[in-house]
Amino acid sequence: MATLRKYGNFFNGVWPLVKDLVKEEIPLQSKLVGWFCTYTPLEVIVAAGFQPFRIFGSSERIAEAGVYLPPNLCPYVRACLGEAFLGRFDGIAGVVLVHSCNAMGQLASAWRRYTNVPVIAEVHIPRDSDSKAMVYMLSQVRSLIRGLERAGGTVTVDSLLTAIRTSWAIRAGWNDLLAKQRRVPAFYSGAGLSRLGRSLQRAGPDQAKALLDLPRQTEYSDTTTRTGNNPRFILTGSVVSPGLLDLLDSVGADVVYDETCSCGRALFSVCKDVKHGVEGALLESAFPRIDPNCEGASELDTLIEYLASWYLNRIPCARMKPAGQRIRYLVSLAKEYSAQGVISSVVKFCDPYLYEQPLLRQALLKEGIPYLLIEHEYEVVPEGRLLTRLEAFIEKTWRPGRSAI
Ligand code: SF4
Repeated sequence: MATLRKYGNFFNGVWPLVKDLVKEEIPLQSKLVGWFCTYTPLEVIVAAGFQPFRIFGSSERIAEAGVYLPPNLCPYVRACLGEAFLGRFDGIAGVVLVHSCNAMGQLASAWRRYTNVPVIAEVHIPRDSDSKAMVYMLSQVRSLIRGLERAGGTVTVDSLLTAIRTSWAIRAGWNDLLAKQRRVPAFYSGAGLSRLGRSLQRAGPDQAKALLDLPRQTEYSDTTTRTGNNPRFILTGSVVSPGLLDLLDSVGADVVYDETCSCGRALFSVCKDVKHGVEGALLESAFPRIDPNCEGASELDTLIEYLASWYLNRIPCARMKPAGQRIRYLVSLAKEYSAQGVISSVVKFCDPYLYEQPLLRQALLKEGIPYLLIEHEYEVVPEGRLLTRLEAFIEKTWRPGRSAI
């Protein structure tokens, strides 16, 4: 792999700023509401006067979590319960538990039983998006609002409208950064952009705007040595720690789009601000009724309906229906970002994503797009076997001067 090299990038310089920004401006602990799954309607939490922050879990007390949860259960879920045992969430307003997969359901039971961290609400996400599912989702969003009100928050038409518009502005800012990843060479390092994406999921609206501004402020001092010859990949799958992205960075591979549940799936948007790309096209075809500014909405019910519809109809995760839409989306994404392959990263025992792999592999290979599956224990450590697999995949898919797909 002599031709693949480690390179610097401006995020290395910016990263301490990102961490300081998030740390300095974190509001009172009692205003924080923890969330786990990207189907949590965050706008409602913001509208109620709280700051949602993503719980990413920690492997430090994962063994203790294993006392209460079976060892053959999603390691992300076990890491989240383990992080609660570290006392990091003491004093927060509470968490929103989401029943989106079997493992998340088990987390909900264990959380209530074995931690002292309050539960604001348990939101059950339907797997479909038809009219019955919509009625059910509406009831779940309303139940979340009731939970937030019990915790001292208030949701009004104005506060929800502001929260929805802010959320679209953040998604549009994220899309602006992604647009630069379509260039050859990619503008940002995959690991850097993913770290920024993780920070955005723990930031309040003002912090998020400042975070999105950091790359814009510093882009002209970018000293990257990245070239058009770097292999480009889409990273998809369930949750993953930044370790895998660091590893890919270290072997000179550009992750041009991190579509995993830890990053892109929590932030991506199909919004009318995106005039280009598969997201924009999907918006026009699948979401003709969605107006990001909710013009004319004057009733809480209209806004709740809008939110329920948005969460049920966006690009689905592997647990939702239909699988075909998601697979077509990934194929388009690989083409659009001129990727030379797709790396699918799945935590062990994650049935929804493992179940999808044969179909995804088949669809990608039919289009001549190389595919690699990496199963891991959530906290990816750069061990030799994994490094060898990644290097072999890169060697197989990339040659200097090879044109992108
Ligand atoms: S990683 Fe898979 S099993 Fe774990 S919470 Fe997500 S979808 Fe569920």
